[in-house]
Amino acid sequence: MNLLRVMPAKGVQMASATTACPPGREFALIERLAARLGDPPGDVVLTGIGDDAAVLAPDLVWTCDLLVEDVHFRRGTTPLDDLGWKALAVNVSDIAAMAAEPVAALVAVAVGPDWTEDDVDQIYAGLAGCATETGCPVVGGDVSRGPALVLSVTALGRAGRPVLRSGARVGDVVAVTGALGGSEAGRLLLEGLAPPAGVDVDHLARRHRRPVPRLAEARALARQAHALLDVSDGVAADARRLAERSGVTVVVDLDRLPLDAGVEAVAAALGRVPGAFTATGGEDYELLVTLDPAAADTLPVPTTVIGRVEPGPARLELRGRGADATLGGWDHLTAPAAST
Ligand SMILES: [Mg+2]
Repeated sequence: MNLLRVMPAKGVQMASATTACPPGREFALIERLAARLGDPPGDVVLTGIGDDAAVLAPDLVWTCDLLVEDVHFRRGTTPLDDLGWKALAVNVSDIAAMAAEPVAALVAVAVGPDWTEDDVDQIYAGLAGCATETGCPVVGGDVSRGPALVLSVTALGRAGRPVLRSGARVGDVVAVTGALGGSEAGRLLLEGLAPPAGVDVDHLARRHRRPVPRLAEARALARQAHALLDVSDGVAADARRLAERSGVTVVVDLDRLPLDAGVEAVAAALGRVPGAFTATGGEDYELLVTLDPAAADTLPVPTTVIGRVEPGPARLELRGRGADATLGGWDHLTAPAAST
C-alpha cells in the first residue's frame, strides 16, 4: 500500500549519480506516517506500508490511489473516460507488481460543485472499460459532494506468492518489460510541446492516458522474479526504492533503457539525453524485475536487461550517457499539477 502514491509531480533531486539519493518529501512523509501508525497487530498483515501493495494472510494484496482535481489532472485537458480508466489501471498495476491477480475494487468519488452527473458517468465509463479489460470489477464505493473532484480507488488482489521489492539478490540482473518514456513524452505533447517530425502523437498520448497494467507479464515473470515493482515514478526513482528495500546496490545503465517510439525525438527536441529523460519520467507502468542472469535468457515475455544488483550499500548507481547529471523521479508532494 502506498499511503501517498498518487500521480505525478516532479521533483526529487539526487546529489549525484553515484551517491545515495535523498528520499524526497513524499517518501519522508510516508515514513513519518508509517511510524505514526506503528506495526500492525496480529499475524494477518504480512507486509505493510512500503511496497506496491500490502500483503494480508493468506494470499491477499491491497492497495489504493487518489486522484485530485488540479493536483493530478486538470479539468478541460483530461478526457473523463481516460481519467476513470487510469484511476483503476494504476491500482491494478500495483496488484500486478506484487505478482498478484486482481479480485475487485472499490471507488469513492467526491464531486466538485461544477461537475455534473453526466461527467461522473463518463468517469465511470472509463472505470468500467478498465475493469473489463483487467478483470478487476468495481464492486462498491461511495459518492459525495466535495470542493473539487477527488477520486479514490482501492483494489484487492490475490497472489500465489507475492513478489516484494525487498527480494533483490546480489548477482541478479535488473530488467524491464516493454518500452519506457512514452507516458512522459505524451504528457509533454498534451501540454503543448510541438511534436517533432515523425512522432506518433496519438501513440504517446495513449501511453500517458490509458496505461495498460502488465498482468500477463507479471504472471509470466512471477516464478523467476526475486523482486518486482511497477515503474510508476521513473526508473531512477523506482530502482532507488528497489535498492533501499532490498539493501543492495542497484546499477542501471541509462544507455540500455528500452525507449518507446518517438521518445528519442521528444528528448532531442528538449535538448535532453534520451536515457536520462526516460529515467526521470513517470507513469510508464511497466514492470521492473530482478532475477538470476540465467533465467533472464529464457523468460516467456520480452524484457530488456538494464542493470544488475551488486553488493554494497543500499543505493542506486546510474551509468551511461546523462548519468552525470542530477537525476530524480516524480515526487508526489513537490511538483506542479500534471495533465492526465
Ligand atoms: Mg507501484
